[in-house]
Amino acid sequence: MKELVVISGKGGTGKTSVVASFASLPGRKVIADCDVDAADLHLVLSPSVVETHEFSGGVTAILDQKKCDGSGKCLEVCRFEAVSRTHVNGKWVYSIDSMACDGCGVCAYFCPSRAIAMQAVESGKWFVSDTKHGPLVHARLGIAEESSGKLVTRVRTEAQRVAKDGGFDLIVVDGSPGIGCPVIASITGVDLALIVTEPTLSGQHDLKRVAEVASGLKVGTAVCINKWDINLEAAQSIQEWCHGKGIPVVGLIPYDDAVTAAQVMGLSVVECSDGGAASCIIDLWTRVSGMLGA
Ligand code: SF4
Ligand code: SF4
Repeated sequence: MKELVVISGKGGTGKTSVVASFASLPGRKVIADCDVDAADLHLVLSPSVVETHEFSGGVTAILDQKKCDGSGKCLEVCRFEAVSRTHVNGKWVYSIDSMACDGCGVCAYFCPSRAIAMQAVESGKWFVSDTKHGPLVHARLGIAEESSGKLVTRVRTEAQRVAKDGGFDLIVVDGSPGIGCPVIASITGVDLALIVTEPTLSGQHDLKRVAEVASGLKVGTAVCINKWDINLEAAQSIQEWCHGKGIPVVGLIPYDDAVTAAQVMGLSVVECSDGGAASCIIDLWTRVSGMLGA
């Protein structure tokens, strides 16, 4: 089984449009949406959810007032200032702020009355869905949650399970943007990382950073320049940099109004156009599939 991840140094480079097109091109594959902070692949793939699972990215301390003897030990040991106390009817009442709690468990360990329990917190949901182009594994992170790296790992693991159970040879991952924990979770151990970039100064900067991350993880990379013709000089500079680093540039997608039109229609560009962007994405898919031996 091969795993391809499509990533970008930041959001908004056209990464998801490329993944949506790959999903709708011929060939059996499982799609994994690991852009869990801004999941929008479902807008194009219109999934029918067949499995919903809760995701817990951590634990939080829960204080049982009935068991608490007011020792104050939890307030003393908590380094995250998550424990507070209020004077009520002549005695101190202790409470824990779940937003401030780091889940370290120290208070539960030291509580002499066993009044504190560590409880799993639901921080998101993940889903397995059917789409007209095959199975999609995707997720939704809870508001203000920070466990996206763990959720990305869960989505990838489940995509691998779905692929194995269904006899699929290829998983296409819509990776997290940026260079943080979620992108590391998106690309670790994949067969190829396709980096989608744009010909701008910031695009070039972000490309270098994400390529460094991939190289540090020993993941092979290829580059695709989206809207390459909006700045020929920058596009040239990116190609020269890639050449110097031995990174193949496998696609040059031109600016094309059909991409936005496809998004408005809730379709991938290759489904509703045979123009410049669509035909370049088809060529890109052929090259990338060739690199994967798929
Ligand atoms: S350590 Fe336990 S018994 Fe002491 S104040 Fe905290 S919760 Fe109550
Ligand atoms: S689990 Fe850790 S962070 Fe949370 S209240 Fe207890 S000591 Fe503080």
